[in-house]
Amino acid sequence: MNRALYPGSFDPMTLGHLDIIKRASLMFDELIVAVLDNSQKTPLFSAAERVKILEEATKDMPNVKVDSFSGLTVDYCIKNNLHIMVRGLRAITDFEYELQIAQTNRKLSDNRVDTVFLTTDLQYSYLSSSTVKEIAMYGGAISHSVPDFVERALKDKFKVIKA
Ligand code: ADP
Repeated sequence: MNRALYPGSFDPMTLGHLDIIKRASLMFDELIVAVLDNSQKTPLFSAAERVKILEEATKDMPNVKVDSFSGLTVDYCIKNNLHIMVRGLRAITDFEYELQIAQTNRKLSDNRVDTVFLTTDLQYSYLSSSTVKEIAMYGGAISHSVPDFVERALKDKFKVIKA
């Protein structure tokens, strides 16, 4: 079976992430979307909340599974017998960072884990979780950036934070 991992912070998942998930799910028999629970970062959404969002967004994609992990992504890959990682590329600015991570992961895994890149759909090339959070924090429009239920979750978060 041809399986791949799409790892990321997904804090929160945007329509850009979802587009990559949909396209990758058509290329592999099984796609695992895994939330990195990084203790060094303070995310807006907990790992459990981020997993729930991804599960809701992919509920009609039977070959997509959602999980979370902490530690090195290559360790997660080896443990779960995954040898392909999917990453999205937006602009040239993503490239240098992604290239370095991909090469590091290949080295760390003794060439057992390779990365494939999908280029973003043009309509989402400007989209990032951090800008979506910033816009939401100031009450701006994010309906073109995230699904409805994520928009509501973001609004709730900032209501709680402001209260
Ligand atoms: P990170 O894992 O660096 O914290 P994210 O969770 O934001 O980053 O993103 C996970 C992956 O999705 C990365 O490969 C990133 O380049 C990609 N990605 C993020 N936003 C988009 C977008 N709008 N279009 C395509 N790919 C994206």
